[in-house]
Amino acid sequence: MTIQHDILKARLLGLLIIITLCTLAFQHYGPERTLIIGQDSGLYFEAIDDRGNGGKSVASLSRDGEKFILDCDIIASDYAWPYCEISFSLADQNGKGKDLTNYERVTLYAQYSEPQAFGVRFQLINYNPAYARKGEDNSLKYNAIELFDTHERYPQVIEMSHMQVPTWWLSQGKIPPDFWGPEFTEVRGVQIATGEHVKPGKYKMIIERIEISGKYISDRALYLMLLAIWTLAAMSFFISTLRKANIEVMLNKQRQHQLEALNRLLNQEHKALEERLTRDPLTGVFNRDGLAPVFQLGLNSDVTPLLSLIFIDIDHFKKVNDTYGHPIGDQVLLAFAQTLSANTRTHDLLARWGGEEFVLACPDTSLENALGLAEKLRRAIEESEWPKQLKLTASFGVAQMMEGESPTDFIARADKALYVAKAQGRNCVRASSQGPANLVAVK
Ligand code: GH3
Ligand code: MG
Ligand code: MG
Repeated sequence: MTIQHDILKARLLGLLIIITLCTLAFQHYGPERTLIIGQDSGLYFEAIDDRGNGGKSVASLSRDGEKFILDCDIIASDYAWPYCEISFSLADQNGKGKDLTNYERVTLYAQYSEPQAFGVRFQLINYNPAYARKGEDNSLKYNAIELFDTHERYPQVIEMSHMQVPTWWLSQGKIPPDFWGPEFTEVRGVQIATGEHVKPGKYKMIIERIEISGKYISDRALYLMLLAIWTLAAMSFFISTLRKANIEVMLNKQRQHQLEALNRLLNQEHKALEERLTRDPLTGVFNRDGLAPVFQLGLNSDVTPLLSLIFIDIDHFKKVNDTYGHPIGDQVLLAFAQTLSANTRTHDLLARWGGEEFVLACPDTSLENALGLAEKLRRAIEESEWPKQLKLTASFGVAQMMEGESPTDFIARADKALYVAKAQGRNCVRASSQGPANLVAVK
């Protein structure tokens, strides 16, 4: 799931890179849109001269096929800046101009036919309510450029960013600095005029067409768009990575809890299994393995612990089985173990040694005390009630661990004492003939 997720992410990233590269390539090498101003453009055009400003120059327009011919007679007068121009209107029926913000350059197919080496002024007139006043043509912003070599270079290519706003217009309108730069937000007029220092005389300018071209979307807008897309992609990548990490942490915690629970269960199972391995299934008391830790105490220490063993064997148990059957024999064995348990101290350990033979390990117990306990048990068995109204007795062999004695020898001594008890008539307690006290119990 996560690998598939990562692959999907990598694919999306790859797709985004391809889209970005294609977009940049398209922007750089792709087609441009072009606005053509010429005879077929259907735009309103007119010839203008300085007579409106109090001058005397005369401009007139004629056509030569596709071309406009501007005939101009510059006549010196009181007006200091005589001129002639051809003006095209970009305003629509409502008087609104064209937004040329995303356009980049103007290709000007215009030049003097005679005399040739004179300047040409190209102007884009922009409207903005921030500075333009109704009915005052001069209040519209002049974005202008002076061309001095139209006779050498044809057509002229003008980068719109190179156009400037003349200072006379800025000072005349007291324009605030925010509006000092060139502006093409609503261009209402396109003008080609005689240059700044035109001398009196006759001029003929041939205007073929004007092409204003640019990208479909500005570089700035495109880069902003790409930046926005990449920022969004980075953000979603960041969020999804964070979410993934959180889920991972959560899953790890869950896994850890599950493992801990499993561990606890295994520990319980292990304990139960250990318990089963050290218990006798019929009577529930320890088996031989369950008794092993008692002897381990002696083995792990240099000092011999105070420990006594009582070997207990039911007298003539075979008869019980033979008379009442094995299942009753089992019942008797269980009741026998319970009677022994009920009459021993909690720190004594009772184990079934095998068949109908039991061992009681008594820590911190001297031979004397162990003999006393054995006698108590013997009586309890003798006096207890048993299944089928049976009369039951048992024989006891008792020993106390001697210094430096191995558990095997110790057990053998207790077992031998039991053998003596059996041999001496059963239903009695006998101590090992060796050992610290060498006592022999009564009866
Ligand atoms: P003694 O007084 O000499 O100890 O005589 P005994 O009959 O008790 O001794 P013996 O060793 O001859 O017989 C022990 C009997 O215990 C033999 C066997 O059938 C019986 N026995 C051993 N284990 C079990 C058991 O788990 N269940 C039952 N019902 N009987 C068992
Ligand atoms: Mg027996
Ligand atoms: Mg026996």
